[in-house]
Amino acid sequence: GFASKSFEATLFPGDGIGPEIAASVREIFVAARIPVVWDEQHIGKTPDPRTNSMVTRENLDSVLKHKIGLKGPMATPIGKGFRSLNLTLRKELDLYANVRPCFNIPGYKTRYDGINLVTVRENTEGEYSGLEHEVVPGVVESLKIITRKASSRIAEFAFAYARENNRSKVTAVHKANIMKKADGLFLECCREVSAKYGDIKYEEVIVDNACMQLVSNPLQFDVLVMPNLYGDIISDLCAGLVGGLGVTPSMNIGMNGLALAEAVHGTAPDIAGKNKANPTALLLSSAMMLRHLGRRQEGDNIQNAVLGVIAEGKYRTADLGGNATTSDFTKAVIDKLE
Ligand code: NAD
Repeated sequence: GFASKSFEATLFPGDGIGPEIAASVREIFVAARIPVVWDEQHIGKTPDPRTNSMVTRENLDSVLKHKIGLKGPMATPIGKGFRSLNLTLRKELDLYANVRPCFNIPGYKTRYDGINLVTVRENTEGEYSGLEHEVVPGVVESLKIITRKASSRIAEFAFAYARENNRSKVTAVHKANIMKKADGLFLECCREVSAKYGDIKYEEVIVDNACMQLVSNPLQFDVLVMPNLYGDIISDLCAGLVGGLGVTPSMNIGMNGLALAEAVHGTAPDIAGKNKANPTALLLSSAMMLRHLGRRQEGDNIQNAVLGVIAEGKYRTADLGGNATTSDFTKAVIDKLE
């Protein structure tokens, strides 16, 4: 066969189990002959005055240069006066959309079979603007910012994603019955965008009902789009429906195609350095990264091998009820590659 075009990508191995699961991704990419040149980046040990964060200017410049990256979990440093790592990455790289596909892992039994939905969360505003103040003692005001610009941008992303990925419906999740202006504007933007996508069905569900519907009949959903706070909660709810954060991939999208894929679980300090971590979430995230780059076949190859190993059941890590090590699992995935 012919060699596919090589590309550079930023890799943040992260902390705790991060380096172990990042090593698994690296090994599997080599075995799958994916011609990536990783630009490995590490968060600083002291705050960088240029970013007011442990995330250094060089970290950010690496992602801005390659426009694609993969991120392992990072320990939240304790201390005040500088910004959180994830918030810095999100703000500085303007990662406005968080996308999480939630689908059942074949062979790994959960309450429901056949779930195949995607949550699209607005990542930059809403309740996460960080604008809070005490008006008078005992009264705090917290500002929820909803703009036409960000709402239209996320709606446009959700519909375009649906079309590109052969999905048939977008559901906007909201609370416009109470937050008439804020969520009302969000809905107005979703409706405007939906009018341009006649091939995609559009519906609206109030957030409390969405939660009830998701846990009682999740198969009715396809793509869900929502403001920041609802997205934060519902994306975790959906991950729980299909087996938890250890198997859920995710990707953050910025402008002009920039994207940072990441495992959504934490650093798992209880099992770090013990060769016990499950690399599935980071591997499935790396597959999302490849598809985002238009390298669908390579992404599918990785994903199919990972899912195939879990389905067989012989090599599963402890979080999935098995006793395979990270290296056993990695080797089994390599043996399953096309
Ligand atoms: P956690 O996700 O690290 O751990 C929760 C439980 O899940 C633990 O029992 C852990 O062993 C298990 N687990 C998580 N991922 C696993 C994997 N891939 N394979 C096997 N088991 C896995 O959550 P936590 O304990 O609340 O957080 C620990 C640290 O991670 C904190 O410093 C927190 O701030 C950080 N964190 C980072 C991110 C991120 O960078 N995106 C997300 C969440 C938490």
